[in-house]
Amino acid sequence: MKRAAFIYGEELTRRDSRVDEVFGPTRLQYTYELLKAYRAFDSPDSLLVAPEDADESAPLSFHTREYVTAVKSFSKGKSKIDPARFNFSQMGDNPIYPGMYELSTLVVGASLQAAEMVSEGDVDVAFNCSGGLHHAAPSHASGFCVFNDVVIAIESLLAKGIRIAYIDIDAHHGDGVQEAFYSSDRVLTVSLHESGRYLFPGSGDVKEVGVGAGEGYSVNIPLAPFTDDEVYLWAYDQVVPALIEGFKPDILVTQLGSDTHHLDPLTQLSLTTEGYDGLVSRMSQVAKRWLALGGGGYEPSVVVRCWTLAYGVMVGRDWPDEIPAEYREQYGLRKLRDVNKPQLDSKVKERARSFAAESVAEVKRRIFPRHGL
Ligand SMILES: [Zn+2]
Repeated sequence: MKRAAFIYGEELTRRDSRVDEVFGPTRLQYTYELLKAYRAFDSPDSLLVAPEDADESAPLSFHTREYVTAVKSFSKGKSKIDPARFNFSQMGDNPIYPGMYELSTLVVGASLQAAEMVSEGDVDVAFNCSGGLHHAAPSHASGFCVFNDVVIAIESLLAKGIRIAYIDIDAHHGDGVQEAFYSSDRVLTVSLHESGRYLFPGSGDVKEVGVGAGEGYSVNIPLAPFTDDEVYLWAYDQVVPALIEGFKPDILVTQLGSDTHHLDPLTQLSLTTEGYDGLVSRMSQVAKRWLALGGGGYEPSVVVRCWTLAYGVMVGRDWPDEIPAEYREQYGLRKLRDVNKPQLDSKVKERARSFAAESVAEVKRRIFPRHGL
């Protein structure tokens, strides 16, 4: 990659404290600080860009007016609307908090801005790690996601006649994005995830291939719990490069959730920073132009290292493994890459391997012919 942009501003880290416990918006701040400690923004080819608010109408390219109005009203407090109608609840994944509308709109704005910078050729790649909120549905919140910045950003690119392929490596299925383009052949969506048999949101079976004109343009590679770097990368290599090469997108959009890591508390995949770095490197090889978004990741010390590695790939920098002293002293993190690998029982590994092989075979059978492969 030649020129890259990293979208970040302190406003993106404002959230209700209870949501913070789960989603950890501070992971955005820590990632920014670690990148700064590595002098990531000292080169003229690596821009640090402040997020801009989206237009009031931006969420409406995907969400219903009724839902957007409700989010705005909940955000102000004292709403008469029943939050349950839109899948909000104080104890579930989608609590209401003051400023929720403003923050969600800012995340959308940041993704739209990143999309614009890439499509206008200002940069080759832009990374909005606050985005990637892939679960949000047209008329309700889901899985910590209020507005689906991924779909909204893709829609803005489609409106310019740009061809899009989307790769989602979050541990959870990218259901909201798949659903948005399920009957369209204008966007190829590919999601690798822990099988819906074991993990939220339950969808993402290989049989979900799209409908009508979209048949063969929704690709799912479900994986078993404890799938490690080797098995995951094997499955990716078997399926993704050939599909992307065949589809020939103008811009690659990626959701770079880092909750596939073996230390993530919410999921059961067993990747390391090496596997994650390998995945992002593979994406950089097929992306002519690239809109990179964040996503899940619930162990902050893992997320910051994964996203720092990801941005390193984008700007073509191989950060030293030793964490810079200023950051190390403040946060106690010593090494950028994992020191230990998870130790997996051979039976568990075998099971993950055969599960992945089955998913790959099904994708090749159901999807590949549609693309002349
Ligand atoms: Zn996730």
